[in-house]
Amino acid sequence: MCYLFESFKGWKIYCEEKNVTLHDSVIEYEVEQKNAESNQIKAGILNAYQVMKDAVKTGLEEEMTSRSGMINNGAKKVFNHPLAVLSPEFQKLIARALAAKEVNSCMGRVVAAPTAGASGILPGTLVTLQEIHGLSDEKIVEGLLVGAGIALIIEEKASLAGAVGGCQAETGSAAAMAAGAMVYCLGGYTDQVFNAVAITIQCMLGLVCDPVAGLVEVPCVVRNASAASIAFSSTQIALADVSSVIPVDECIEAMGEIGASMESRYKETAMGGLAATLTGQQISKRVLIQDIEILPDDESTE
Ligand code: SF4
Repeated sequence: MCYLFESFKGWKIYCEEKNVTLHDSVIEYEVEQKNAESNQIKAGILNAYQVMKDAVKTGLEEEMTSRSGMINNGAKKVFNHPLAVLSPEFQKLIARALAAKEVNSCMGRVVAAPTAGASGILPGTLVTLQEIHGLSDEKIVEGLLVGAGIALIIEEKASLAGAVGGCQAETGSAAAMAAGAMVYCLGGYTDQVFNAVAITIQCMLGLVCDPVAGLVEVPCVVRNASAASIAFSSTQIALADVSSVIPVDECIEAMGEIGASMESRYKETAMGGLAATLTGQQISKRVLIQDIEILPDDESTE
């Protein structure tokens, strides 16, 4: 059944011919790949969603300061800030995406969906969508399964790794998974789900991977917030049947082509972009000195 996740076009044809839903087709695939029962697959996804919800809560309630000091309780500040430029729901969306990602930057437990660098986007978007629409956990699990199918195709046609395709491949893919999942959870049909993916990818194309000091903190945490907001806007656009014009498979191919042409300094090497700025370099030196200072004596003198 592996061909199923080679393209969005193929995924749609498969589901139509077999008369199965998008999320059931992912369960079928997982059952075959893992030699497991469908209820085990659903239970695993439900467990992953609980970890996502816990990460949001942890990030909003506990101390979140990273060892480098670059991350310092940003999610709580956004959540509680009284001067709003966003609607209350939007403010919570941003804070939740920041919260879950800050947990990752502070070495807490998250779901790498699809990577740890992008681990705030699905929690932020889905927890907020669930709250706005009163959705059940079971409905969110269906959305997450569709998100998994989206990731399988992006991995096949382009990449999910910043080291291969830049940040578009990490936060861009997570935002596309989230947008597709949200449209699905709200009852959107297959073309709307795929259109949401296409629009999201169009908005994220070209984003480079340039983590300061090689740590997945800056700009990663704030990019999780912006990617979550793009996922929301793409969901709204797709639900209104506004076309991406460029079909989703071609959008993913464009992302692959852009990723392949990116110089290596923009692919997680911390040698370009924000990592290469004067301040980025200073932070990098300070973090390196911190690391040397905490090495045991016998290791630091070798
Ligand atoms: S900048 Fe690089 S490390 Fe950070 S989230 Fe993006 S892809 Fe991941």
